[in-house]
Amino acid sequence: MKNTLKENAEALALRTVLGYINGKDPDDAIEKVLEWADKFDEKEGTVAKQRELIRRELGNKDGNWYKLVKSFWTDIDPSVRQRTFENFIINATILGGRRKAEARKKYGCNIPWTILIDPTSACNLHCIGCWAAEYGNHLNLSYEFLDSLVNQANEIGVRMFLYTGGEPLVRKADIIRLCEAHPDSQFMSFTNGTLIDEKFAEDMLRVKNFVPAISVEGFEEATDSRRGKGTYKAVENAMRILREHKLPFGVSCCYTHENYKVIGSEEYFDWMIEQGAKFAWFFTYMPIGVGSPTSLMVSAEERAYMYDRIREYRKTKPIFTMDFWNDGEYVKGCIAGGRYYFHVNANGDAEPCAFIHYSDTNLKEHSLIEALQAPLFSEYAKSQPFSPNYLRPCPLLDNKGALAKMVHDSDADSTDLSAKEDVDDLCAKCADAADNWKPVADSIWQKTHPGAPL
Ligand code: SF4
Repeated sequence: MKNTLKENAEALALRTVLGYINGKDPDDAIEKVLEWADKFDEKEGTVAKQRELIRRELGNKDGNWYKLVKSFWTDIDPSVRQRTFENFIINATILGGRRKAEARKKYGCNIPWTILIDPTSACNLHCIGCWAAEYGNHLNLSYEFLDSLVNQANEIGVRMFLYTGGEPLVRKADIIRLCEAHPDSQFMSFTNGTLIDEKFAEDMLRVKNFVPAISVEGFEEATDSRRGKGTYKAVENAMRILREHKLPFGVSCCYTHENYKVIGSEEYFDWMIEQGAKFAWFFTYMPIGVGSPTSLMVSAEERAYMYDRIREYRKTKPIFTMDFWNDGEYVKGCIAGGRYYFHVNANGDAEPCAFIHYSDTNLKEHSLIEALQAPLFSEYAKSQPFSPNYLRPCPLLDNKGALAKMVHDSDADSTDLSAKEDVDDLCAKCADAADNWKPVADSIWQKTHPGAPL
């Protein structure tokens, strides 16, 4: 789906800023981009607070945020930097934002910012506690399906796509083909990194709109014990290749009862930065799937420890971090069910979230709009936020019974590809965690948001 003539005219005007992004001097570029943002937002003032915050943080030349932004000029290929900015800011956020607002009114449902897609259930590794490992190697979404989904999404303003899996790079030829076919969309991928080689890096440099987030469990022993011997070295090799090609990448970290201290350590943060990662996503282990052990779940105290560590490093380390559960306060709780995102599994089922394997709509039989309007996503839209304390965002992990109610009320089925999991059984596995986290989360919330409801 291409931009309309009006959008192209707007994009052309917005592209003046790309000249600044392309400039050689980052200080000059930062100042000009901020001046441009001030003018652009002058009338509406919708991001006035954010502009002020960015100006303050980037004004400190010794600060971590200044160092991170500057590194995009020293470490990243200029044409990739430009395309990434264009797709994130202009296409996905500004132009896409308008289309999304119109679509929301027209169709009366949530319109997401991004869609997570499993192009395949196949994976070349077999990680402990990963549902993908149990799914087998037999399901793939065709190129035509993926292309149609991207086109339908572009129509309603969605320009961001994030691959999960399985190991998405098992399908790297189709992934590159999709990047080429949709240069105005941004593609990202969670990956174990072991399939990144020189040829793939050359392809990434050519298409410019693909950014990987490599999964790591800590240092060599922890990574290899969960993902298999030799994985850590393969990951470091992939990061070296990306660094040498001046390609942006991030890290995806799943913290568990066993590795949370390492993942939350300064040494580990410094390692990610040294490797060249520009962002890190943190997830906590969830016992998804029949037979998944609950023993790997973090305790309430361990989750609070990660809350503190990540916030601390956010003030000092030049890497952008996002903690999928503990950052619920920045997005008013749960973002699933199409509110900001939803997930399509390798069978084409539209699931509310990558962690919630229940669905009432398959995208091989229904359009994207039909999936967004279907009962399960409507239940999500009706029920969000699940708690006024946004540190308890999740209908599975933090709010007992909330997920089961939505699944029952919408008549959704388990979409687990290996063994169907009863939603009441799944919720029962998380009940203690929800009970234990509530007092800890409430105490943090009261300290950080005095007077806000609980
Ligand atoms: S359902 Fe839970 S895991 Fe998924 S986005 Fe919502 S809060 Fe996060």
